[in-house]
Amino acid sequence: MFEKILYPTDFSDVAKKALEYCKKLKEAGTKKVIVLHVIEMDPNVEKIPANIKEVLKKELEQTASKEIGAIATELRKTGFDVTVRIELGSPVKKILKVEEEENVSAIVLGSHGKSNIKEILIGSVSENVIRKSRVPVLVVKR
Ligand code: ATP
Ligand code: MN
Repeated sequence: MFEKILYPTDFSDVAKKALEYCKKLKEAGTKKVIVLHVIEMDPNVEKIPANIKEVLKKELEQTASKEIGAIATELRKTGFDVTVRIELGSPVKKILKVEEEENVSAIVLGSHGKSNIKEILIGSVSENVIRKSRVPVLVVKR
């Protein structure tokens, strides 16, 4: 039922907790995991010169690929077929785009992420993914 899943991560503790659930889905028949990190770009970034923007982008991509690489290795060790994707832009939009492109059967994410504010019931990325996703969303609580 959940053969191919999408695991979006901001590398936060809650997202790491969600990774443990991805691994457990092996028992439920999951074979393929798409690991996605979206580099969030502030709209103001458009105002900075293109060459500086390029350097900034490269640096962010390098850091992200190290983190995402470690996750991919961990998942491959568990026996999954893994695809890694790094996208630039709005996390919600990109998560939904990859959900469609990769035709996944479910999304597994954390209830909260990097902000993890105590009073907030659910993070804005989780909330909007739940609202707009066509496929079931497994929300792992902090
Ligand atoms: P907010 O961002 O609204 O201040 P938050 O950071 O606590 O709140 P969310 O951003 O909604 O919470 O994070 C919830 C989950 O969404 C994370 O655990 C992660 O799985 C996913 N997520 C959040 N940001 C990204 C991102 N940039 N790329 C990929 N996945 C993300
Ligand atoms: Mn967040």
